Amino acid sequence: KPIIEMKNIGKVFETSDLQTHALRNINMSIEQGEFISISGPSGCGKSTLLSIMGLIDTATSGNYFLAGQQVDSLSFDQSAELRNKHIGFIFQSFNLVESMSVFENTALPLRYREPKPSADSVKEGVLSCLEQVGLSHRLTHRPSQLSGGQQQRVAIARALVTQPSILLIDEATGNLDSKSGDAVMSIIGELHQQGTTICMVTHDPRYANMASRQIKLFDGELLGTAQKSSMPLPV
Ligand code: ADP
Ligand code: ADP
Repeated sequence: KPIIEMKNIGKVFETSDLQTHALRNINMSIEQGEFISISGPSGCGKSTLLSIMGLIDTATSGNYFLAGQQVDSLSFDQSAELRNKHIGFIFQSFNLVESMSVFENTALPLRYREPKPSADSVKEGVLSCLEQVGLSHRLTHRPSQLSGGQQQRVAIARALVTQPSILLIDEATGNLDSKSGDAVMSIIGELHQQGTTICMVTHDPRYANMASRQIKLFDGELLGTAQKSSMPLPV
């Protein structure tokens, strides 16, 4: 069963007298463990698609199934619960809290967990995520004391701390030099190897090539087919 399934998803933004069709007739299906890249020109709907996938926005038409659950009919709280259970987000801007240390920033999503995790399990989870991104030696640093690449790696650790099955990534390397960008992408490649489903918006063809399937959007519509191709032919 696909972990993500969209049927005829559309999104219209209404602003005073203006209507923007950000997405039209999106049909796609993503299996657990796939690595999908999403690319297309500015304004074609990439971020909107990712927001709908990650339940931070809702479609205006069509049906969306996340982990087998139909999302369209969920209440606000049910949808937040489903999001917290399955989704980790990584954005271009790191969105770290400057008044908090690396450790505290990483632990943040666990504050909203029910039942409340013990201090020991928070510590264990945070340290293991920071180790995965190579920052266990920077626990007490503030974001401004880190390089951009390091800040993005903290943001990745924060996204991982709830052990999401799906990582949604919007131009994670957009603010980074190529060396830091490569380091971030190599972590994302490892997460894919470990079984995480990844949907990643990127402008960089080198990074798009790391994906097992590349999806292209143009003017709110999918170019080509976004269905998983059928069984490979026997050789
Ligand atoms: P991309 O991520 O590919 O640059 P977006 O998904 O951000 O594209 O935007 C798709 C279209 O929807 C654009 O025309 C954009 O102006 C419009 N749009 C996005 N968010 C909003 C919003 N909150 N209100 C009105 N229009 C929006
Ligand atoms: P990485 O390659 O691990 O991302 P960098 O080579 O960018 O790290 O940074 C090297 C060292 O310089 C790091 O230990 C980092 O903490 C420190 N550093 C980088 N930028 C800043 C900054 N703006 N303020 C303080 N320290 C910084």
